[in-house]
Amino acid sequence: MSACEYPTTHEKIAEVIDIHNFIDNVFIPSKASTWIDLHDPATNNLVTRVPQSTDAELKAAVDSASKAYPKWKATSIIRKQQIMFKLAALIRENTEKLAASITLEQGKTCADARGDVLRGLQVCETACGITTQLTGEVVEVAKDMETRSYREPLGVVAAICPFNFPAMIPLWSIPLATITGNTLILKPSERVPGCAMIIADLCRQAGYPEGVINIIHGGAKTVDFIIDEPAIRAISFVGSNRAGEYIFTRGSANGKRVQANLGAKNHAAVLRSAQAGQRCMALSTLVLIGQTKEWMPELADRAKKLTLNGGFEEGADLGPLISPQSKRRVEDLIQSAQNEGATILLDGRSQKPAKYPNGNWVGPTIITNVKPHMKCYTEEIFGPVLVCLNVESSNEAINLINANEYGNGAAIFTRSGATATLFQKELEAGQLGINVPIPVPLPMFSFTGNKKSVAGGGVANFYGKDGLRFYTQWKTVTSLWRAEDAISKQSDVAMPTHS
Ligand code: NAD
Repeated sequence: MSACEYPTTHEKIAEVIDIHNFIDNVFIPSKASTWIDLHDPATNNLVTRVPQSTDAELKAAVDSASKAYPKWKATSIIRKQQIMFKLAALIRENTEKLAASITLEQGKTCADARGDVLRGLQVCETACGITTQLTGEVVEVAKDMETRSYREPLGVVAAICPFNFPAMIPLWSIPLATITGNTLILKPSERVPGCAMIIADLCRQAGYPEGVINIIHGGAKTVDFIIDEPAIRAISFVGSNRAGEYIFTRGSANGKRVQANLGAKNHAAVLRSAQAGQRCMALSTLVLIGQTKEWMPELADRAKKLTLNGGFEEGADLGPLISPQSKRRVEDLIQSAQNEGATILLDGRSQKPAKYPNGNWVGPTIITNVKPHMKCYTEEIFGPVLVCLNVESSNEAINLINANEYGNGAAIFTRSGATATLFQKELEAGQLGINVPIPVPLPMFSFTGNKKSVAGGGVANFYGKDGLRFYTQWKTVTSLWRAEDAISKQSDVAMPTHS
């Protein structure tokens, strides 16, 4: 098996291959003395080992990106676009391989893993339109005098990724960071590095020159290197508040541009006028308005029917959690809810599929009668747990949701346009779904979380127009070319070509 091959079963891997760094378009075995064991969350069998890349390796990646930058910046936009077309096609062709690596390392079902790839692919596909997206501005400010503003890349930029979307989140950065002319150093989550390695291989096949994309590995030590390395001009971070607020503060203090998407507590408000079967399990907090609380037994019946199984198994609805520690944390939060007086309407704590007794399983869990002060409400659970609160009116629901410190997303389920409009105007969450459970915008828009779900007030959102803005800086030139000073009336009329 090569560095980029992945099995499509949960069977024990006979020959475990270590994860390499990707520098100068070459997969290079690490000389690390510290390695992180990575296990299949469905079995806890060893899958691979991830290096804590050495200082020399981290520096080599930065040197490679710095060396590649001038030539890449000067590469024509048409050439960059051609590479992006090729990359998008290769990602589509390799969806199954990418999804298999996700299922094996992250645990999500194959269907979910394909969705993870698709949402990243869409960012690549949208970036293919760069030739019309990167236009600047020009005004003739006086006779023969023009002021023009155009966008230039920043230089070497970095991305630091979380574990929960191993394809989508690296692909929030790779296409836009590079098509705008920057060179990139990407650090995948040390818990799911495989998908980024396959993407690196696809980038190489698509025609990215050496050094434009480098991948390095490790945990907090690698992050500290990125934050403190003077050659790195900007950092894109997605992950927890704990890491993100630290990276934002220290990165900004070091003079870098930092965009940081953080934790969430997404609410779904359900009105009596809602349609049945709202797929609310995709949202972690349900706000039941008025008598809708009577629907809970039916919802619990449906949740009970979800199949918990290894992600490669046919018919699996729900995979395992990423690690035994995450499982323990989620179970502790369920227990805290019980201790604080909430009702555990559906308890997934003892569930496990017969075929995979050693995985990090927690089945669908529904907690009702939750109050805003309870730990299960104030903390992001990050497991298959639905926390339900009861309110009497739409206004009470709006006040409750707005009082929550996170502001990533919210959804409302109703048949009333007037009520939908009230929520649309009054809710402070940055992304709102109206009869849509997961309001993640397509990449012609940006991902626009707010409040504590972004660092620094969300100065620059990921992908979309804001993403392009993040990876570029304006240059504004005022020029005076007097027509009467023209040396020759003869112009060069040869058509420029770009390969
Ligand atoms: P995490 O913060 O633990 O890890 C993210 C990255 O930060 C990893 O690459 C990790 O190596 C690094 N890191 C972790 N701890 C660090 C530390 N102390 N110092 C320096 N670097 C550190 O996040 P995670 O558990 O991988 O991901 C889950 C979190 O990400 C959840 O909170 C989830 O809500 C959030 N998330 C947010 C969005 C969004 O767009 N808002 C999207 C996906 C995930």
